[in-house]
Amino acid sequence: MSFDHRIFNFAAGPATLPEEVLKQAADEMLNWRGLGTSVMEISHRSKEFMEVYEEVVQDLRALMNIPSNYEILFLQGGGLGQNAAIPMNLMPLAKNGPRADYIVTGIWSEKSYKEAQKYGIANLAASSAAEKFNTIPPRDTWELSDDAAYVLYCANETIGGVEFPNVPDVGQTCLVADISSNFLSKEMDVTQCGVWFGGVQKNIGPSGVTIVIVRQDLIGHSMGITPLIWDWSIQAGTQSMINTPPTFSIYMAGLGFKWLLKQGGVKVIEKRNKEKADLLYSYLDQSSLYENRVTKEYRSRMNVTFFLKDESLNAEFLEQSNAAGLVALRGHKAAGGMRASIYNAMPLEGVKTLVEFMRDFERRA
Ligand SMILES: *Cc1c(COP(=O)(O)O)cnc(C)c1O
Repeated sequence: MSFDHRIFNFAAGPATLPEEVLKQAADEMLNWRGLGTSVMEISHRSKEFMEVYEEVVQDLRALMNIPSNYEILFLQGGGLGQNAAIPMNLMPLAKNGPRADYIVTGIWSEKSYKEAQKYGIANLAASSAAEKFNTIPPRDTWELSDDAAYVLYCANETIGGVEFPNVPDVGQTCLVADISSNFLSKEMDVTQCGVWFGGVQKNIGPSGVTIVIVRQDLIGHSMGITPLIWDWSIQAGTQSMINTPPTFSIYMAGLGFKWLLKQGGVKVIEKRNKEKADLLYSYLDQSSLYENRVTKEYRSRMNVTFFLKDESLNAEFLEQSNAAGLVALRGHKAAGGMRASIYNAMPLEGVKTLVEFMRDFERRA
């Protein structure tokens, strides 16, 4: 199949990757580093792969400015796996039996909250379910426990399109952030959370690896039932290689990190992400056909959700946008409507083309 240019892919994850990254992976596929083999065919314990691994860790440390008292783990099982691993590794730190607080602002944090109930007391400290997950409950309404091991929140709700503009303040309690869908999209002060976690398939690389960034003093307290592969102390002690790691995903994430460093790092991409999101939201706000329903200050810069006020036009909108090379705009089935995921790798040109299409569609509607 031949083509002039790639489609603009607004999928929520797995999601679009930088073209340069894909080209480099393709170029290196048959003969990686002159070894006459691809990177995915060599041992994870080989000198060559260990070099890649060290570089991937170093580059992520540089990109996020991760202090040396934080470990970086490359695990499997996705964000959902960590929903179980987090209570198993942290709940024993609670003073009066296993307990943690959950802030539920959408479908992902709700899943985290439900999973945690298997391992101890998960306290629903705040929820925006009654507001259809279109907002974030004001901080002064949160009912935090005195004796929770941690407070978990989702920094960006991928399905609803709701994002915390800042890391919330929970005092001395350890904060755990799900950053699956806004990883490396903006500057984050790593010291503000005890744990940051997320799969790389939204904003960094292909699916297969989940990154956990965890402060050292939080490691080594796991429940006896914790599976080896999710025990942070075991994984921290073996460079995340207690078993075979997803080597190709780690290598691809590394190419993603190099690409981001070449762009100028997180500060530069943050500016670009803001510009893309502002362009789309300002168009939505003046439109009489489309609307975004999220409280303005909590709108996601990564996942822009919108509805056609006349929903009978949905099928036509999707058909025509698809034909125009603007794909995967259908919203998550739990939310309905539309969603444009505009992660780091989505060029400004893609968002401009989308806005032009939407304007044209509105004119014709
Ligand atoms: C995608 C996503 C998850 C689930 O990640 P998996 O890697 O598919 O398990 C969790 N949280 C958020 C915010 C997500 O976007």
